[in-house]
Amino acid sequence: DVVNLDGFDKHEQVWLGRDTARGLTAIVSIHTTVLGPALGGTRIWPHKSFEASVIDALRLSRGMTFKSAIAGLPLGGGKAVIIADAKTEKTPAMLEAYAEMLNTLQGQYITAEDVGMTLADADFLAGRAPNVSGTTKGGSGNPSPFTAEGTFVGLKAALRHRTGSDDLAGIRVAVQGLGSVGWSLCQKFHAEGAVLTVCDLDAIRTTRAAAQFAATVVEGNAIISADVDIFAPCALGGMLSTDTIPLLKAKIVAGAANNQLATAEDGQRLVERGILYAPDYVINAGGVINVAAEMADGGYDVATVTPRVARIADTLKAIFERADREGRTTDAVAEAMAREIVEAARK
Ligand code: NAD
Repeated sequence: DVVNLDGFDKHEQVWLGRDTARGLTAIVSIHTTVLGPALGGTRIWPHKSFEASVIDALRLSRGMTFKSAIAGLPLGGGKAVIIADAKTEKTPAMLEAYAEMLNTLQGQYITAEDVGMTLADADFLAGRAPNVSGTTKGGSGNPSPFTAEGTFVGLKAALRHRTGSDDLAGIRVAVQGLGSVGWSLCQKFHAEGAVLTVCDLDAIRTTRAAAQFAATVVEGNAIISADVDIFAPCALGGMLSTDTIPLLKAKIVAGAANNQLATAEDGQRLVERGILYAPDYVINAGGVINVAAEMADGGYDVATVTPRVARIADTLKAIFERADREGRTTDAVAEAMAREIVEAARK
């Protein structure tokens, strides 16, 4: 398989694990270990091609470097992709083979949950491999509620920056993806009186959202062009592109999905349309902040996590203000901040 890596950052290591008998094809990407061991979840997703899976792993692991650096964590950036449909192809045998792969990496990569990998899967792996975080077995458990809380306070910071108020009553929000994070976010929006439009590939989730949150359900790209104030992407990445940005009616994009911008130029396209973008790896850092607390001296203590997650709002405020001051995009400012932190540590 040939993968064109032109234009990508240099990554420290990229591993391919294959066990066809047990249905495993996995890529583990380690972007940097300058700030600490490379931490990032394992995504189980049936990408259409091997190349798409590698690119996903590379982009996600780089995002983890930026995320942990900006959140002030002593962690590097890593991420894994298992190419499979988690609903139909994930088996104990496949996860066992993956655990063997993790063992061979000897602690350079610490995994956790991501799309397709559940808390139960993390617990299963933790019994077989070192460096599995986010488990219930002596770990910090499911990171999603913390990701949702960080995204919520970050989204309010964006609303405050744009309008001077963070009152969500009557504010129209479109949520793409009603999984662990998207669903929690909808609960928070609904509790504060926001008006919801939602979509998901899973009709059970959308039907439930219509019943519980009086949400309007739309399909496919209709979520992008929904007549709303805020667009909150909480599915997979790459939904902000030259094709979709012209369709947006929202004036704020703030959601939990990783890698929302299809290309770096899409940040500029959002600015040209007058849309405020909360960089994904800043706003969705709540989960990694929670997982990192497992590594603290004295062990995991949720009381240390809550104030750090709340600080995501201050970090975003600083990024929005610096972007305004310097006439740069918010994602360019966030990336520069992250690279400054990594380079200072490297020196
Ligand atoms: P999840 O697997 O629980 O939910 C994802 C949901 O998105 C599913 O319901 C799926 O059906 C839906 N979906 C997928 N493609 C879609 C599409 N094209 N249109 C509409 N819906 C679609 O995942 P999650 O844990 O909620 O994570 C959501 C996003 O947030 C991912 O991008 C993930 O990488 C990111 N994220 C999650 C965490 C976390 O703590 N869980 C942390 C940081 C970032």
